[in-house]
Amino acid sequence: MWNASIDRSPALIACCTGVGDVVAAVRFARRTGLVAAVRGGGHSFPGQSVCDGGIVIDLRAMAEVDVDPEARVARVGAGALLGELDRATQAHGLATPAGIVTHTGVAGLTLGGGIGWLMRKHGLTIDQLLSVELVTAGGEVVRASASENADLFWGVRGGGGNFGIVTRFEFRLHELGPVLAGPIFWRIDESPRVLRFYRDWIADAPDELMTLVIHRKAPPLPYVPAELHGELVVGVVCCWSGALDAGERAIAPLRAFGSPVLDLCEPKPYLEHQAMLDPSFPHGRWYYMRACDVDELTDEVIDITVEHSLRIRSPLTTFPIWQLGGAVARVGDDETAFAGRGAGHTFNITAMTEGPDGFDAEREWARGFWSALEPHHRGVYVNFLMDEGEERIRAAYGPAKWDRLKALKRRYDPDNLFRLNQNIPPG
Ligand code: FAD
Repeated sequence: MWNASIDRSPALIACCTGVGDVVAAVRFARRTGLVAAVRGGGHSFPGQSVCDGGIVIDLRAMAEVDVDPEARVARVGAGALLGELDRATQAHGLATPAGIVTHTGVAGLTLGGGIGWLMRKHGLTIDQLLSVELVTAGGEVVRASASENADLFWGVRGGGGNFGIVTRFEFRLHELGPVLAGPIFWRIDESPRVLRFYRDWIADAPDELMTLVIHRKAPPLPYVPAELHGELVVGVVCCWSGALDAGERAIAPLRAFGSPVLDLCEPKPYLEHQAMLDPSFPHGRWYYMRACDVDELTDEVIDITVEHSLRIRSPLTTFPIWQLGGAVARVGDDETAFAGRGAGHTFNITAMTEGPDGFDAEREWARGFWSALEPHHRGVYVNFLMDEGEERIRAAYGPAKWDRLKALKRRYDPDNLFRLNQNIPPG
């Protein structure tokens, strides 16, 4: 597992190489009554793709990516990682919006929604989805798209792995050249001013601009000035996906604000930018995360953020605040199971340590920060939930979507075979 704080021992791992293997594994799990976990990229924060004593249906070998540059479509196996998808599409100057760390699985990310650098321009990852091939709990292979099993297609776009095992995704692609991207950092004592400036600066930002705010201790990397190593800093990471000269103009006010201590925002290939955060979230560390959406970075939200950033202890903890909006918010809320299109920002309060030492304290920091923000919560992205129980999952979807998802679950998985996920029980 990517998150080393999760340690479980399955009885059996079914390493599937194609849809036939997945059907066999599902039928085997049903026949034996073994609890079944489904593994795509293995990046579930709470470790829901591994189980104790059951069967892990591992899709990692099904990682093929076929790009049709004429039709601008990619057909992607369920074991592919984001980096594999991006490499194949960028070879043709194309891309589909996905996440910000290349070793995340396409499957789990897509089924929950998929937020990332290109979403404000083109929408969520699910908004690019043309169809899926899926193995149901009964072991049937079905296709879902806008015209085939449309109710199921609605459900897999945000409803997670509740309705079956997706074996193949078909995505729409967009043209994408180099991006103007990278972080600009300030010392932590500038954070209250930087966040207030940032809030006003992004208020009418074009869709080409997507940003993340991060707070962390500066790592001892060669391009980080030595006097900053280990010091808390605030950064705004930009990704401009339009014409580069327009991007320079749009980002200029941010560069000019206050006294940045490090400016790494420059034109670069998209693949390079996509891999930038990989070293900050490697496999094998201990991770814990609490997440919430907020409408706006009000003065109060900013004050809470600054106060809790000052309490980060671990040199590894890095927590992003995502800027939503743009094309994400222009898709109708009813069109997909994903909830939260109207949110302004997503807080991703990630505690991180090298191992068990210091982990409990950092986890308490994440919990305390999240609780302090509670008056401002407006929902949560299901892919950023830990094992938080049914109430939280129901709240994430809201009552109308929850009822519709439960009805779908009764139809496609009435015995809840697929329950190691952000589970929607059939009732
Ligand atoms: P897995 O652990 O393999 O699976 C996660 C869940 O999905 C499990 O419940 C599993 O059973 C189910 N599942 C997996 N594959 C299938 C399938 N083929 N059919 C049915 N169910 C399946 N999210 C974003 O939106 N944007 C980001 O930029 C982003 N960055 C991240 C970076 C890191 C380092 C991490 C750890 C997570 C990130 N996430 C991001 C959250 C991510 O979307 C979820 O953790 C997602 O579940 C990971 O998918 P996976 O396939 O790697 O995980």
